[in-house]
Amino acid sequence: MSTFKAPKGTYDLLPPDSAKFLAVREAIAAPLRNSGYGYIETPGFENVELFARGVGESTDIVTKEMYVFETKGGDRLALRPETTAPVLRAVLEANLHKAGNLPVKVWYSGSQYRYERPQKGRYRHFSQVGAEAIGAEDPALDAELIILADQSYRALGLQNFRILLNSLGDQECRPVYRTALQDFLRGLDLDEETLRRAEINPLRVLDDKRPDVQKQLTGAPLLRDYLCDACKAYHEEVRELITAAGVVFEDDPKLVRGLDYYTRTTFEFVHDGLGSQSAVGGGGRYDGLSEMIGGPSLPSVGWALGVDRTVLALEAEGIELDIPSATSVYAVPLGEEARRILFAKVTELRKNGVAADFSYGGKGLKAAMKAANRSGARYALVLGERDLADGVVQLKDMESGEQSAIGVNEIVAELESRLG
Ligand code: AMP
Repeated sequence: MSTFKAPKGTYDLLPPDSAKFLAVREAIAAPLRNSGYGYIETPGFENVELFARGVGESTDIVTKEMYVFETKGGDRLALRPETTAPVLRAVLEANLHKAGNLPVKVWYSGSQYRYERPQKGRYRHFSQVGAEAIGAEDPALDAELIILADQSYRALGLQNFRILLNSLGDQECRPVYRTALQDFLRGLDLDEETLRRAEINPLRVLDDKRPDVQKQLTGAPLLRDYLCDACKAYHEEVRELITAAGVVFEDDPKLVRGLDYYTRTTFEFVHDGLGSQSAVGGGGRYDGLSEMIGGPSLPSVGWALGVDRTVLALEAEGIELDIPSATSVYAVPLGEEARRILFAKVTELRKNGVAADFSYGGKGLKAAMKAANRSGARYALVLGERDLADGVVQLKDMESGEQSAIGVNEIVAELESRLG
């Protein structure tokens, strides 16, 4: 061990487990690529104001969890705690929304940083795959995103997840509800901080997980009963479209999320095998965000799925992903000349698209075969002194144990045909 350890609240992705993370990212990305979403990548840090304005001044993410620093040049930056605001910033900056093809549909994959209290499923560095559809107000777009996330999870084999759905209303109906909720909250027995929160952002009090608070919230007014006709019709259509697609969901009239920018459609994917950190993904519509960061009106919708928690969900359900072995052929040279010849063959195999590896470090036969086994390779190639003299190499099928001599010049063709 070295003097150093991974920072608190972080962990390293190491082989072979890291293959699971790649497979999860790929499973989430595949349906998006297939549905008109283009890949976008933004910096790991942004001007701190982007998050303060975008995510919301009163949210936990902004007040407590951001990694903020000042550069030598005097810029105030923050490691990104989420990627929706950065994506919108990038789209506006590049004028993608003016190219005449709305919505702009993009997906991303990357690290997020939040200074949270670490526990299982909650880290200070974690990874999300996300999708954003920018610049269109159409319930089919909200439905598309929910259906695609559902499809990703199903493709991974997950079953014990639930989709919670709510509407947060818009600028017309939410303020009326906000006032009603505030009146209700003022009458409760709440601590000072919660009362303050009720004044700044009362909807977030609904999200309070403490049982004594939840108990008092039983009779709270519900946004559902305050939605304006337009929001009601919009929400009803989203529900119908995802129902028609066979997606099962639960209406959750108390669902709010930890970010201020959501309007109308809001949803969360929760997994029942994860304990307290049960949210595996979430998202919704954020019609006001563009204007909050100085852009034009661009109604949009998106989600982010947590890769770390999705991997935990797979483990909770005992799902083993079918990850093909990385190496197909493992070459074992015995002696100097064999080493040169086999190394050249391995290079040739790789050029031909065959995944091949090589026994390095002058290992003896026994240790080298052990390594071949561990690599998961279907075939081993062993080249010894006697084989050299005969111009052949031993080809061993690691599954059946069968071994046969083939000509050194036939290696590539033979393996290509055997591996299909
Ligand atoms: P959010 O950006 O807060 O809406 O979160 C979206 C998803 O990211 C969550 O459902 C989690 O899967 C994941 N996530 C959020 N915060 C963390 C964290 N601290 N550690 C691990 N995953 C997280």
